[in-house]
Order: sequence, then C-alpha cells, then structure tokens
Amino acid sequence: MSTFMSRLPRSLRGSGRLLRTRWAKVVLGLILIASAVAFDVSALSERLDPNGATAPTANAPDGGRQQRQGAAPTDSSPAQTTLPPEPPVGPYQPNTAGQIMVIAYHAFGSEEGRWTRTPAGFLADLQALYRKGYRPVNLIDMVTGKMDVPKGYSPVVITFDDGREGQFRYITGEDGQQRVDPTSAVGVMLAFNKDHPDWKLRATFFVSDVPFQKADWPEKVRFLVANGMEIGDHTLSHVSLAKATKEATIKEVGGEAKRMAGAIPGYNLSTLALPGGEAPAFPDVALEGVYDGFSYSMKATVLVGAGPAPSPLSKNFNPQRIPRIQAVDPSLDVQFALPYWMSYFDKHPELRYVSDGTGNMK
Ligand SMILES: [Zn+2]
Repeated sequence: MSTFMSRLPRSLRGSGRLLRTRWAKVVLGLILIASAVAFDVSALSERLDPNGATAPTANAPDGGRQQRQGAAPTDSSPAQTTLPPEPPVGPYQPNTAGQIMVIAYHAFGSEEGRWTRTPAGFLADLQALYRKGYRPVNLIDMVTGKMDVPKGYSPVVITFDDGREGQFRYITGEDGQQRVDPTSAVGVMLAFNKDHPDWKLRATFFVSDVPFQKADWPEKVRFLVANGMEIGDHTLSHVSLAKATKEATIKEVGGEAKRMAGAIPGYNLSTLALPGGEAPAFPDVALEGVYDGFSYSMKATVLVGAGPAPSPLSKNFNPQRIPRIQAVDPSLDVQFALPYWMSYFDKHPELRYVSDGTGNMK
C-alpha cells in the first residue's frame, strides 16, 4: 500500500488517515467488482458449456451431496431424492417456432471467394456456430422431425454442393498410409468433432458428376454415410432442370439416386439440391419417379438463396423450397450471406429455432 501511495501524484498523496481510508475503500470496491465480474463470466461459461451445464446440484463442488444431506428432507421435497442424469441444457429458451439456418458451401481453396471458403474460414464458421449454441443436423432430419439437438440449442444444417475436390480429399502420409486431408472440409469437421464431441458429424453433401472429382468417390460416400452424414441428389450431370425434358429430368434425378444406391448398399437419396437453384420444368418427376427400374423419392429440395428457413413446424415451411444461406468470408461483404444472418440471430435470438429436447418430433 505504501508503495502504491508513493506512486500517487503529490497532490493526491497527502498524509491524512482519511485519504488512506478512501483509497482502501476504492481498492476494496474494485476487488468486489472484479469478483462480481469473475462470477458472471463463470456463470456465463457454465451456461455455454454443454458439458458443464448439467443439473445445478450436479455442478455443486461436492457433487450435490450437501444439498441432499443438508436441509431436513420432507415428503414434499422430491428434489431431495437421487437425481437422474439430465441431458445438457443449452443457453436458449426452447422455441420450436423459430427459424433454421441451412448453410451452403461450394469450393474450398487457399483464398476466400464468392463461392470458395478456405479451410481456416470454414473452421472459423464452425467455431462461431458452436460458440453461439448451434448444433448440426442432416437436412433429412430437419424435414422428418428427427433433429437430434439437446434442449436449449439451435439446429443448423451444413450443406456442400457439387462434390468439389476440396470438400473431401485423401493424402498419403510419410508412413505411406492414406488419411483424410486435414485441410479438406471433411478433415476440418473430423478434427472439430474430435475436439467437440457434442458437435456431431452431421452434414449433407449434394453430389453430382464425379463426386469429389476423383475415382475413389464410392468409398468416400460410404465413409460419409457410415459416419452419420448425408448424401443428397444434385443430379447426374449438373444440368438445369428448368431446361431438361421430362425424360432427362427422370434420368438426372433418378439416375443419380440409383448410382448412389449402387455405391452405398441400402441407401436412398431423399433430398435434392436444384442445380443453379433453377425450378424444374417437370417438378413432379424431379421429386418422385422410377428410373431404369429404380424408384426415387425426394422428401426435401433446397434452393440457392438467401435466408433462413421457417420452422419445419410452421405452416410457411415448404420442404420442397428450403432457402439456404451462402457461407462467405465476412471480408467479402456479400449481402445476406452467413455473416449477416449470424449477427441477425445474435440480435434477435428470439427468432432462432431452439430445441425443446424432445427430439423435435412433429
Ligand atoms: Zn451445383
């Protein structure tokens, strides 16, 4: 304290006991404020930490024993009995009428672009979504009412179009072993899931042509499905369904579904991304039909732009016209892309779809 006082300007230093008392009060006040802030921060991180956010008594330093043994138990206090394990509770009030972001990614490369995200940019998106209480689901889970998201968290759908090489790539290590390239989108997701097990491996890959631009694609689509992710239909050869004949539409949509069923035994594509977002000239057969003896049925169709989707429980929700949000780096300042909608929901958290923990069944 004396060192502290001696550093004060001479005019403030004085010698009176009164001044020292005042400074003591100021210091005490600062300590109280600092501890209050620390308390707030720990409370906040607890709310945001899915692992720590269990039932309040389980978070007590003694694991809740004190509360159970402390106050005299009475018949009217069921809380005193052994607590069942509760699922983690997220930071938001359940709101199954809220909107859901369905995000679209295209190419991955070394520079950010209108349709290109860098691996670092993609990781930053995942980190921001995770921190803000979003958890991923496959597109099909959104339309079938099977979103596996804990209470208090918001579902988000991550989609990839065109089966670009940078989405899923293998590299050969020095040991000669082939492994998922950590700089490909799948590599980024695998690492993120390892660090954050409550961010599950969920994403929908709309493939076309030669998926991931390499002949080893059948093994890759099997890997994605085996790990909980979804393969979606983006047509056989990425044609405009607005210009395709009826026969061509059946071949493009049904042919892709048949090809994937051949690569992934027992798997039926059930979601469609329209190439270029163009509405099909023959919408009936774009959704359902038989191609070469193979029956296909699309339960959902996604568009290209440019906003969040209504709640699947809302009467405004049309599963065959689900809007998407383009993932673009904030530095590119693209209107109504992911950075815009991310901050939109930061400002209006009451508009977010938030799981009620029931599995969100209809
Ligand atoms: Zn496309």
